[in-house]
Amino acid sequence: MKVKVNQDVCIGCGACHAIAPDVFEINDAGVAEAIHQDAIKEELVEDAKDALEGCPVSAIYEPEEEKEVA
Ligand code: SF4
Repeated sequence: MKVKVNQDVCIGCGACHAIAPDVFEINDAGVAEAIHQDAIKEELVEDAKDALEGCPVSAIYEPEEEKEVA
């Protein structure tokens, strides 16, 4: 599984970082970004999914072209 953040949509609420601190960080611009560009570790996948589902503005997504691989 890979995740990305649409930073045009992210409101910087910090929820994803609170849920999955090893997957998302808040950058200097005050918006979230995925820490890992490659597939995230198996043990972090559940947290990443929780964060994806918990984002209030649905800014977190799985890149389409990489879904099959992850
Ligand atoms: S939960 Fe969504 S809106 Fe909040 S910081 Fe993360 S990506 Fe941005």
